[in-house]
Amino acid sequence: MNKFTLFSVLVLFIMLFTIKNADAQTEIAFELSFSEPQAHYVDVNMILSGVDADFIDVKMPVWAPGSYLVREFSKNVEQFGVKGLSGTEILPFVKINKNTWRITTNHNKKITVSYKVYAFEISVRTSFVDDAHAFISPTGVFMYVNGMLNLPAVVTVQPFAGWKKVSTGLEPLKGFSYRASDFDVLFDSPIEIGNQDTFEFDAAGTKHTVAMVGSGNYDKARLSVDMAKIVNSEKSIFDHMPNTRYVFIVHNMLKGGGGLEHLNSTVLGASRDGYGTEKGYTNFLGLVAHEYFHLWNVKRLRPEALGPFDYDNENYTTDLWISEGFTAYYDNLILRRNDFYSPEKYLDVICSDIEIVENQAGTKIQPVAESSFDAWIKYYRPNENSKNTGISYYNKGALLGMILDLEIINATKAQKGLDDVMKAMYDEYYLKLKRGFTSLEFKAMAEKVSGISLDAFYREYVYQAGPINYSIHLDHAGLNLLNDYQGKEVASLGLVASNKEGKFIVSSVMRDGAAWKEGISVNDEIIAVDGNRFTGAVEVAKVTTDLDQYIANRKAGEKVNVLLSRDGLIKTVSVTLQKDPKGKFHIENSNDATVDQFAVRKRWLNL
Ligand SMILES: [Zn+2]
Repeated sequence: MNKFTLFSVLVLFIMLFTIKNADAQTEIAFELSFSEPQAHYVDVNMILSGVDADFIDVKMPVWAPGSYLVREFSKNVEQFGVKGLSGTEILPFVKINKNTWRITTNHNKKITVSYKVYAFEISVRTSFVDDAHAFISPTGVFMYVNGMLNLPAVVTVQPFAGWKKVSTGLEPLKGFSYRASDFDVLFDSPIEIGNQDTFEFDAAGTKHTVAMVGSGNYDKARLSVDMAKIVNSEKSIFDHMPNTRYVFIVHNMLKGGGGLEHLNSTVLGASRDGYGTEKGYTNFLGLVAHEYFHLWNVKRLRPEALGPFDYDNENYTTDLWISEGFTAYYDNLILRRNDFYSPEKYLDVICSDIEIVENQAGTKIQPVAESSFDAWIKYYRPNENSKNTGISYYNKGALLGMILDLEIINATKAQKGLDDVMKAMYDEYYLKLKRGFTSLEFKAMAEKVSGISLDAFYREYVYQAGPINYSIHLDHAGLNLLNDYQGKEVASLGLVASNKEGKFIVSSVMRDGAAWKEGISVNDEIIAVDGNRFTGAVEVAKVTTDLDQYIANRKAGEKVNVLLSRDGLIKTVSVTLQKDPKGKFHIENSNDATVDQFAVRKRWLNL
């Protein structure tokens, strides 16, 4: 080693040490306050200390992990400004793209970035502020310093007058201050601020807090017992609990629905009066089961594209049918395992999924792997033609989860199931290798656990579009899938229309159906059919319109004359009715099930 090399090594060492040290010295703190909550604003101060650069870029994410759509959160940012250490020196900045502000530091070691965020989109993945409460969806409120996602952050909340509680999965410090070990944790920790009704329960060695936002007819004691059952049941699959605390933030609304998973919390949308009916209550528990299952599947056991996240762009994966679809399979299965569903009710729920998938024309067009990859531009951006061109990776993925489960249980003589694949994948890729899995690695593990080749399963069901042969898989459990419409000739016009402001308007046209072939379009107004005036009126307790009832009394092959208004011009279209291709399914036990088939059924349905 010559002197020059030694010098270079020393310089490099000093540089590395300095860079590391500079990183370690930079501290980021946020202050959230609410000067105008009634106008739906949150005021943000981002305080950077130990800055050692001529300029820094601060950025806002363009999407919220778990919700695969570029939402351009920076559209809600206004009154951006920067001050130096003194608090009076105003620092220059320039916006260099839609979500990046470049700040000239003028050698200030401490700078304060301030901005306001307009928050008026109530959903599990966006922020909402009014004079009653604030829901902070972090990717749309907090900014990060480019290249410094690994830094910890401290968040201090100054609640609006009269707001007494803060609920979040962030690590609590003193008062209303919280710490995130890095920005991935910060961006994965929503915050609810207001006067939410909170209660707690312990399950699987973890303290769970439920924050009920808004009124609702929920029963806290009943929920504590039932939610704990779900937690224990799901934990038993993975036999590992990554959290010591977990927070459910529940938004009770007129019409609820949807949830978003996070590392140690979740946000659920519930119908405020839905807890009172058996159906509504079970739906809520299904949502709990779904989002809680994500604690393992997707938040930790994940496709390689889903972490560490790129907050600037789409993050593409072909495996959402596993991350979302299998989670959707398990949410119902967990309800069955805990007797919230009887075996018969559970099979009915499976049939509903089969009808959603097989009655949708798009299932013949889009493979489920492609549905996953294109979630950003298709599933999250549906239009009037979506059902003709695509399939949900939730519903089809759930059915593929069921099929894989049945195949594994059958191949292992009821010794193993999909649970064993999920646990083995979690142990290998999350706990041991600490990385995401590839599609081939998931397949390899499922083949290892089951001892069978899954080439045909992947080729025909994952990478190809087309119908699923349910019967051969359900037969492993001695179960038969029956189509109630088999052999029945139901006439169909092949369109959906409804009464909008007094006009009977077509909202979708089914691919290859009668209306599709004869050229009836979405947005056409149906005035009359065969000289009969139809309005789209729906009889109480029926889901069909007056036109549906008229068509149901006709026969496939017959012609009807449809009088339309298209963009204000009248036209008549002669349509030949077709046989409705839709199915209505139910599952029956076969009378002569063998001992082996019964063993598969027993394990699958937890009999
Ligand atoms: Zn999900």
